[in-house]
Amino acid sequence: MGYDQVREVDEAVADALVGERERQNDTLAMIASENHASEAVMQAQSSELTNKYAEGYPGKRYYGGCEYADEVENLAIERATELFGADHVNVQPHSGSSANMGVYFATLEPGDKILSLNLEHGGHLSHGHSANFAGKLYDVEQYEVDPETGRIDYDALRETAESFDPDMVVSGYSAYPREVEWERIQAAADAADALHTADIAHITGLVAAGEHPSPVGIADFVTGSTHKTIRAGRGGIIMCDEEYASDVDSAVFPGAQGGPLMHNIAGKAVGFKEALQPEFDEYAEQVVRNAKVLGETLQDRGFSLVSGGTDTHLVLVDLRDSHPDVSGGDAEDALESVGIVLNANTVPDETRSAFNPSGIRAGTPALTTRGFDEDAMRTVGECIADVIDHLGDDDVYADAAETVQRLCEEYPLYE
Ligand SMILES: *Cc1c(COP(=O)(O)O)cnc(C)c1O
Repeated sequence: MGYDQVREVDEAVADALVGERERQNDTLAMIASENHASEAVMQAQSSELTNKYAEGYPGKRYYGGCEYADEVENLAIERATELFGADHVNVQPHSGSSANMGVYFATLEPGDKILSLNLEHGGHLSHGHSANFAGKLYDVEQYEVDPETGRIDYDALRETAESFDPDMVVSGYSAYPREVEWERIQAAADAADALHTADIAHITGLVAAGEHPSPVGIADFVTGSTHKTIRAGRGGIIMCDEEYASDVDSAVFPGAQGGPLMHNIAGKAVGFKEALQPEFDEYAEQVVRNAKVLGETLQDRGFSLVSGGTDTHLVLVDLRDSHPDVSGGDAEDALESVGIVLNANTVPDETRSAFNPSGIRAGTPALTTRGFDEDAMRTVGECIADVIDHLGDDDVYADAAETVQRLCEEYPLYE
């Protein structure tokens, strides 16, 4: 059963925690930003460090009793430094969005200009969407992907950089299946004498493993999340050159946050250690191979992929060509009912709405953690196609649900 100590205090929460464990075991997590952290990472995250106040940085805390907090944070920093090769690392951001906040607070004044990718084209809220703090504090202009190729229109980006004259160019995306050409974005930032933040939130693990080119050493700032492809538990990270180190550190604390989540920093340290092992490189390679197989399977079944394929951990399906009457939301709901959990997503030049868009986004990081190989991924791709081809057909749903259950049993999670 588990969660016995929680259950003694709180039956309702214990039930929900057990329910969530079973949900993760019995469904296929294909939300591209999700993964399954190891039990080692989760144990570190639920440690006594959740009790500890450690405002400040290792060796310079505002509270006593920080010797173990210092040890853990230093280990997280050392391992991140080894993984990414950055001059300076800050492991305290509570999330990927907080990491971006840290960089903006370190470098920009309210009213300064940010140039970033449109959310509907694969950007992120924290890159300057009007509903987000970044959109409220800064003057934001957006670039887009080329509607023909689905890839970043680097030439247009450079032109926009020259005319808009931003203080910060943001790259790195939430729903972009292709390799990002960091140098071309850096060139656009240089042309405008702007700083450049590469937000690798989605691909932190791929970059760590060398499966995607690294922006470290190219962009001024690299931000990331630690819970997506890298499996180090929920949180954020900032990397930069030494010249920005103290500005970034003071922007994170005391600028944007109070006490660091030391238990999560312990999770980051453990997860980064796992990511330094050769098996992690194999994992990351398999993530990309699996995404390619998933994409090819769907294409063979008549689906269109934005950009025509993938170089990363995700595919973005544009349903408008193959299934004009099916919205992303319809597909998401139908797939969830058979145990495949992914999300509806906007596609470039969206013609529906952000709430019920025309695409679905599917990622392979979590399934690859469970051990899925190309054959298993092909089976999943066929299931997705079957369900969307036969929306509302109970027999097809029953077959798909059975296949999903078989795969879940064959590739168990947290045993
Ligand atoms: C996921 C993501 C983030 C961080 O999100 P949090 O939920 O705040 O951790 C930041 N940037 C991009 C591009 C992302 O995809």
